[in-house]
Amino acid sequence: MNLPKTVLELMQALKDAGFEAWAVGGCVRDSVLGITPHDYDLCTSAAPEQMQQVFCKYQLVLAGVKHGTVGVVTDTGVVEITTFRTEGDYSDSRHPGWVRFVPTVQEDLARRDFTINAMAYCPGQGYADPFGGLADLKQGVLRAVGDPVRRFREDALRILRGVRFAARFHLEIEPNTWDAMRSQAEALDLLAKERIFEELSKLLLVADAQMLLKIQPILARVIPELAPAMGFCQHSPHHAFDVFTHIAYVTEGVPPEPELRFAALLHDVGKPACFTTDENGRGHFYGHAGVGARMADEILQRLKAPTALRQEVVWLIGHHMTDYPPEKKLVRRALSRHGEQRLRHLMALEIADLSGKGVVESEDGVVRLRAFLEVLEQISQQEGQMSLKTLAVKGQDLMELGYAPGPKLGEVLNELLNLVMAEELPNEKQALMHQAKQWL
Ligand code: ATP
Ligand code: MG
Repeated sequence: MNLPKTVLELMQALKDAGFEAWAVGGCVRDSVLGITPHDYDLCTSAAPEQMQQVFCKYQLVLAGVKHGTVGVVTDTGVVEITTFRTEGDYSDSRHPGWVRFVPTVQEDLARRDFTINAMAYCPGQGYADPFGGLADLKQGVLRAVGDPVRRFREDALRILRGVRFAARFHLEIEPNTWDAMRSQAEALDLLAKERIFEELSKLLLVADAQMLLKIQPILARVIPELAPAMGFCQHSPHHAFDVFTHIAYVTEGVPPEPELRFAALLHDVGKPACFTTDENGRGHFYGHAGVGARMADEILQRLKAPTALRQEVVWLIGHHMTDYPPEKKLVRRALSRHGEQRLRHLMALEIADLSGKGVVESEDGVVRLRAFLEVLEQISQQEGQMSLKTLAVKGQDLMELGYAPGPKLGEVLNELLNLVMAEELPNEKQALMHQAKQWL
């Protein structure tokens, strides 16, 4: 395993003082996979006070010192170093209720959630891998450390973390681990909602449709409003799938941004409640966008999602059935009303929605939405290039017409710019001067 120079220096300083020092957790896993770790965590036999002595020349972050963690500020960022420890009682669902320092790296590794996260590395000594994490990584297996039922009961967040790691690294969840994830899903009810939201956001960014389908019982525990959608037959020639299977494909189909993934996951949550059949036995879901938006609002409030995200998701769901013809005037109007980012999000959701129906007839709709996006792109490029600087008349020209200097002049220039951008006037001096003269 390659370790950055600064990290090696910190490890050496601990060793010189007679302590053990290991790189541990995510950074070991990532580098075995050939991924550059985003940070390096260390663990050590030194107690926090001993670390403070060893690193007395460094600036330290001591916020986590009660749990054994000292942050050492280096040129390349803060390196967290934690005393070998075991822990228990996760009832506050954020930090373990108690920690106890232990003498060996092996005991420290035993508190960790999955075998792939329970490996350590020390230059000169190689890997500490008491649970077979290296073999599991090689074989693509996600396996809990120890008895999975007990481990998920201790901290149910591990269920969502496990799903996330399996999705992110394309691992098979080992059967006993998977059984325990399902059987202990009830324990998710005990977690702080913020913690669920945070983990679910990360999970949604990496999960594909197959994973979302696999974890339906877990999702239904976290968001019970989704349960009626699971297996709900749409009785419609426009849909090849049940509501939740469709949801899974749409979620996979939108770009991995939290707002979009949550909007996709919840976009049809209102469908079961709005279901009706007509005289031909065909299913309809009139009003499901509005109902779904309200439900999503409640769900995201309950999960304590950030307000900005919640509002964006609710807006997207409320508008996901809106048709936008790809005409310049209409695009421009939508743009001034909703802003570019929101419209782009909505188009991404609507495209994924059509593509996720599993029927060929949706392709025309997708072409139309892509045409809308193209017009949007043209307009935004044009607007990026167009400004008062490129307008064919200047303040001086208007003053020569008889306009008085002052704020009014700026307003007139902006008004002219708007007309040019709306393509109601060409960006030519003669035409603009003519208009300005009329206003005068
Ligand atoms: P990421 O790339 O997402 O940061 P990571 O493995 O570094 O992955 P962290 O949440 O940063 O994940 O946690 C660091 C390490 O701490 C993990 O690798 C794991 O060994 C341990 N860990 C974190 N959360 C838990 C938990 N809830 N239960 C048990 N061990 C945990
Ligand atoms: Mg990490």
